[in-house]
Amino acid sequence: MEIIQEQKNFMPRLDLHCHLDGSLSRTFFEEILGRRVEMEELQVAPDCRNLAEYLAKFSLPFQGIQTARDLRYAGYDFMRSAKADALDYVEVRFAPVSCCMQGLDVRTAIESVLNGVKRGREEFGIDFGVIVCAMRGHSEEDNLAMLRTAREFLGAGVCAADLAGDEASWPMRGFRELFGEVKRMGMPFTLHAGECGSVENIAEAVDCGAVRIGHGVAMSGHEDVMRLCRDRHIGIEMCPTSNVQTRAVPGFDRYPMREFLDVGLLVTVNTDNRTISGTTLEKEIRVAQEQCGVSDEDIVQMMRNAVEISFAPDEVKHRLWKRFGGRTTA
Ligand SMILES: [Zn+2]
Repeated sequence: MEIIQEQKNFMPRLDLHCHLDGSLSRTFFEEILGRRVEMEELQVAPDCRNLAEYLAKFSLPFQGIQTARDLRYAGYDFMRSAKADALDYVEVRFAPVSCCMQGLDVRTAIESVLNGVKRGREEFGIDFGVIVCAMRGHSEEDNLAMLRTAREFLGAGVCAADLAGDEASWPMRGFRELFGEVKRMGMPFTLHAGECGSVENIAEAVDCGAVRIGHGVAMSGHEDVMRLCRDRHIGIEMCPTSNVQTRAVPGFDRYPMREFLDVGLLVTVNTDNRTISGTTLEKEIRVAQEQCGVSDEDIVQMMRNAVEISFAPDEVKHRLWKRFGGRTTA
């Protein structure tokens, strides 16, 4: 018991599912907008109980990341928050095409975020990877062009691709070709699936070649899909607070984290949108333990899983493994 407690105190802390636009600080907005910003403008109310209310909070962040300067600052600001949350490694994701509404080009958008997070890494000593999100609501042409540009930065700050956006309106099957192409490019990817859509989206995402699934809550109770994910070593990026706020699950008592851990899935705990959800990794760990039936041992296991499934280069993974006491395998 004491050994686990000690491991928990010293374990590396990783957040693998975190959106840049939903995680920018109040200071960031006050500086770029030049006015006082109330937290209610940025964060969902504690009693947020639907997806529409949640998504409405993205409108201000969306306006805040449309220039190269603001994107650089956003990348830096994100790393500053990661430092405040005592993270050791973070994967931050954003949708470059969504940052080009005022004429910016995708390449500059990616470079600007990379410059910001790199500055943050130097100042705060936190390793990172940037995940670029194709959007379900964007055209295939825009998504593909963005992914081709992002591929040039793979290994130079960009670590993977993702698919985000309204899952219920745009099911996974419409993106098979796109991600078939991403696979051919040699770019690894995680896909948002089973957050507010069907369990079929999860099976299709795995079939498409996704090595990780964002959320995945819809596979609760579906033994065949859980087995598929377990047998293929698919990483599961769970985000408890966000999933309750958007009604992906009715409450923490129904959150399938315990169920997924028991099945042997590579479960991880993450924040999703730090500012919009009003959360930190510290809070997510606490909520998992207090309300989702997760033990100290499970928390350590989830951080081990996070190192294993992260898109980090080997030398970074090696450094993180050492923090568990020198072991180099899960
Ligand atoms: Zn997400």
